[in-house]
Amino acid sequence: MSTRMSHVADGVPANAGVTILGSTGSIGGCALDVLARHPGRFHVAALTANRQVERLYEQCRRLRPRLAVMLDARAAEQLERLLRAAGLGIDVRAGAEGLEAAAALGDTVVAAIVGAAGLKPTLTAVRAGKRVLLANKEPLVMCGDLLIAEARAAGATLLPIDSEHNAIFQCMPHGFRAGEADASIRRIVLTCSGGPFRTLSSDALTHVTPEQACAHPNWVMGRKISVDSATLMNKGLELIEACRLFGVTPTQVEVVIHPQSVIHSMVEYNDGSVLAQLANPDMRIPIAHALAWPERIESGAASIDLPRIGRLDFAAPDIERFPCLRLAQQAAAVGGTAPAILNAANEEAVAAFLERRIAFTDIARVIEHALTLTPVHPDNALAAVLADDARAREYAHACIADVAPRMAQGAL
Ligand code: NAD
Ligand code: MG
Repeated sequence: MSTRMSHVADGVPANAGVTILGSTGSIGGCALDVLARHPGRFHVAALTANRQVERLYEQCRRLRPRLAVMLDARAAEQLERLLRAAGLGIDVRAGAEGLEAAAALGDTVVAAIVGAAGLKPTLTAVRAGKRVLLANKEPLVMCGDLLIAEARAAGATLLPIDSEHNAIFQCMPHGFRAGEADASIRRIVLTCSGGPFRTLSSDALTHVTPEQACAHPNWVMGRKISVDSATLMNKGLELIEACRLFGVTPTQVEVVIHPQSVIHSMVEYNDGSVLAQLANPDMRIPIAHALAWPERIESGAASIDLPRIGRLDFAAPDIERFPCLRLAQQAAAVGGTAPAILNAANEEAVAAFLERRIAFTDIARVIEHALTLTPVHPDNALAAVLADDARAREYAHACIADVAPRMAQGAL
């Protein structure tokens, strides 16, 4: 059986239970906004967060899930006290076990945790045969082939809600199946806003701050993906994500800078036809699409105002100024555990940049160091992926420890 990304028979049951892994984040908030527009069609089964007690408490009061999970055990205790005081009988759990329990609940699971931390709960949802809405791109980058194979075995439905991949999915031929090559596809054009530093010189990039990196011109997102968008690593991760989901090779994916973020990506067919999906940059659109697919529902997004937008621009990316994209292209070409190594080193480097321990331009240096030193395994079975992820983080830490003192002395 193939992984269902397009089985039209797969409608959503009436009043479907939806679990949101990472409900206090930017994607989690957008998903809750769409769900609130369709009472009776969906209900919230479980909500999870890292440690934002107040935000999760407020969501629990409003949405009454069966289960609420906090990764942090003390935060879970606090949440439980607050819910008890409010007379709400919501089951509260903590830690990785709690996340697994949440992932196994409901008909649909929105995977919106940030980073590799989302891998295990996403895998649990896939193995439980759920309809899984994938925002959390890092697990796909680490071991997308495995996730797709597991989805196939369990009869799970994988639906991308990363805006570009949702756009590509919308432009794919009828009956398209996740992970399978389609001979009619010549290539995919992955659009990229260019991020907040699109026009900055290499010199100026050395001095940018976390606040500047997190101020994206077109999207409001969590801090990690905002930095990834500023380095263009986000587009590199998305290139790998596209190869996994759509069965194309890295050379079939062209990254094009498109500052207006109106075209969310394109699919070129072998006859030269190019299909594009256009919309305002609003994550509620891909989320609504995947929640109701194959139906369409109201997302709350405004209509696109083309006369106001006026023009659509395109340019090639500059991989000299943005070497993270080059590193991702290289890791994609190498395959095996190389994308997992790239991803792990990137997570550590971005965290160090956000803590002001390294400069923006050191992010690529740390990743290149880890990619050079960590031996790549050709298979990407889970054990190999997790081992190489851990090894890459060690090399990244060593490189950060080397760079950080120079940063502290103001030498950078
Ligand atoms: P965010 O930082 O706003 O939210 C992350 C959520 O995950 C929060 O609820 C947080 O509590 C939870 N979380 C964080 N660390 C955790 C951990 N170790 N264990 C369990 N839960 C944890 O992030 P976001 O911007 O919503 O992005 C979430 C994912 O979606 C990322 O993988 C990102 O790349 C992807 N994505 C985001 C956007 C966007 O517009 N924000 C677009 C496309 C894809
Ligand atoms: Mg995206």
